[in-house]
Amino acid sequence: MTNPRQNPTAGGWGHLLQKPLHALLDLIYPLRCAACAVRLTDSGDARTDFCPGCAAELVPVKLPFCDTCGEPFAGGMTAPFKCPNCAGLRFDFDFAISAWLSTGPLRQAIHRFKYQRCLHLRAALARRLHDAVADSRLVEMHAPDAAERWCVVPVPLHSRRRRERGFNQSAELARLLARATGLPFRDLLRRSRYTTAQARLDRKERLANLAGAFRPARQAVRHLQGKNVLLIDDVFTTGSTTHECAAVLKKSTHAAKVIVLTVARG
Ligand SMILES: [Zn+2]
Ligand SMILES: [Zn+2]
Repeated sequence: MTNPRQNPTAGGWGHLLQKPLHALLDLIYPLRCAACAVRLTDSGDARTDFCPGCAAELVPVKLPFCDTCGEPFAGGMTAPFKCPNCAGLRFDFDFAISAWLSTGPLRQAIHRFKYQRCLHLRAALARRLHDAVADSRLVEMHAPDAAERWCVVPVPLHSRRRRERGFNQSAELARLLARATGLPFRDLLRRSRYTTAQARLDRKERLANLAGAFRPARQAVRHLQGKNVLLIDDVFTTGSTTHECAAVLKKSTHAAKVIVLTVARG
């Protein structure tokens, strides 16, 4: 059985705009480009969340891309393949996908969202995240009874980092994706260690930094056992964070599949 509170009517983003609070916010904060913050005047631009100049610079991930990590590959390859980055590695997630590259305006929008407390950008970024569910390998999650088998789990932040930032960016995105897809939102991973910033570390250092950093919440096994998990993060870079989360999801909560979905690929 699914919990109706966590499965509001599926289908589109219209309900987000119908809320009176959002209507009020639109009056106070008129729609602006998610990247350069220029005011959007055309309703078509408002739907795309970016001004025409920034929208033209968004880079989609196109085929062919790595079957495991989603890294795009220049060339005419058509069969599934493993990229050189993944060749010697083993990931505990099944595969990772993003519809966009983390460059230019999208990178800027993610940066504003995460580090400049532009929480309102979550809707624009969740729409870019949602673009990734069109992947043919996710066809099962669009079945009418998918909410019984699939759920959406964010990569957790340590409570101290969440207090510093004011919110967990992955949880904000995951909650909106859950609403748009009608799948249950399960914020059931915990980050038990306050790790140093990952940005300057290479993959080996990242893995050492993250070892034992994640654990399941108390209700995790009950809700995640045997389920297919969409694991949500903002950007996929080396895959070490999502690999560690996937290891916990599979080994401790016995999730069936873990598929990493991110707004962008670094
Ligand atoms: Zn712009
Ligand atoms: Zn790869």
